[in-house]
Amino acid sequence: MSNKPDCIFCKIAAKEIPAEIVYEDDSIIAFEDANPQVPVHTLIIPKDHYDSIADNVPSELLAKIFSNVANVAKIKGVRESGFRTVVNTGDEGGQTVHHLHVHILGGAALPIHMGPAD
Ligand code: 5GP
Ligand code: ZN
Repeated sequence: MSNKPDCIFCKIAAKEIPAEIVYEDDSIIAFEDANPQVPVHTLIIPKDHYDSIADNVPSELLAKIFSNVANVAKIKGVRESGFRTVVNTGDEGGQTVHHLHVHILGGAALPIHMGPAD
């Protein structure tokens, strides 16, 4: 398990700081976002530290994360109603926590917005 000192999501993965865990297996963990933007706002992370999706993440691990998106959506009750999956990457991508994470957002109709911040 490779962790980065002072990384908040590494600490969550190691259970050093608490989080409301939704799903966990040997290599990934899903937990509730501390500042939910919509009724369902859950994050999936690898337990190993990668700065972002652009950090040479092994394809098997990416497959593991993304093959659990629908699983976590089902646990949260939005698999049928629909949800949005977001991976912010780097500064211009709006990433604030630099440990790869996938947002699952749902429980409300979400606006379509793909353009620059205003
Ligand atoms: P980003 O902007 O990097 O894509 O998203 C980071 C997300 O992590 C934000 O939605 C923020 O609310 C969430 N977050 C930041 N710190 C913590 C924390 O300590 N615990 C949990 N559960 N979520 C956090
Ligand atoms: Zn980390």
